[in-house]
Amino acid sequence: MTSNENQDHSVPKTHPRYESLKYRHKIIEGMKNLVVAEAGLIAHGRGECFDYILGEKTTLLAKKAIRTAVAALLLAEKPVISVNGNVAALVPEELATLSKIIPAPLEINLFYPKEGRIEAIKNVLQKAGATIIHGIDTHKMIELEGLKSNRRKVELIADADIVMVPLEDGDRTEALKKLNKKIIAVDLNPLSRTALWADITIVDNIVRVVPEMIKLTQELKKLNNTQIKEIVQNFNNKLNIQKTLDLIIKYLEIQKKKAFEILKF
Ligand code: ATP
Ligand code: MG
Repeated sequence: MTSNENQDHSVPKTHPRYESLKYRHKIIEGMKNLVVAEAGLIAHGRGECFDYILGEKTTLLAKKAIRTAVAALLLAEKPVISVNGNVAALVPEELATLSKIIPAPLEINLFYPKEGRIEAIKNVLQKAGATIIHGIDTHKMIELEGLKSNRRKVELIADADIVMVPLEDGDRTEALKKLNKKIIAVDLNPLSRTALWADITIVDNIVRVVPEMIKLTQELKKLNNTQIKEIVQNFNNKLNIQKTLDLIIKYLEIQKKKAFEILKF
């Protein structure tokens, strides 16, 4: 395969899986630039699989969770958006915009440390317009108790009241919960430990979630504090996850019928 074939423009827009292939190439490019860890490719594949059985769209249940997440971030005193390699490769501009309009600082936090990775992610975020990026200076970091992975090293997250953790590892979600942080997870797998531990679980693809969050921030900023609080109070995360699982089961039943129609011939 030539390097040209790895470029986004080599995928014809008419290809039925254009969107999916476009983001695969972003992840591959990210890996070449040190932004994405090798294991990040596998994590992306796991995400794609769940996206597939959710119909590759933002469900109404995800929309509800996204709306609640934005409301919670607007009400927070010290919100932080945690950034890993996959997220930086997929939606850098959108993250920079969201960080500015909430406002909530971005903090780089990685499971797989590697020489030059933090620098590479910082560069991608800065190029995308982000101005406040933490998680770079090790002297400013402390270590979360009870956590062995590299994700234990945190800066502003240590003092945050609410942390948005897209594509997070379950161990750190658990550690952050034990420190009484409110957690917003973005995870396509509704059964992951992260999804089950979070306070607000957005079961949707990060590439659709962040643009929707930007849109909703502008909308919710027109409301008063009482109205924003009501959005958070009326949200039931457990019920939302249960309904999402029901939706997957229903979707698979429909797809099964469709597949049988094709297999008949
Ligand atoms: P946990 O540690 O929470 O139990 P896990 O070990 O199954 O989860 P990890 O590799 O730690 O999974 O985290 C990656 C998660 O991110 C997976 O659940 C995967 O489905 C999800 N994911 C991957 N790509 C995306 C994406 N583009 N948008 C949203 N979620 C994604
Ligand atoms: Mg994990």
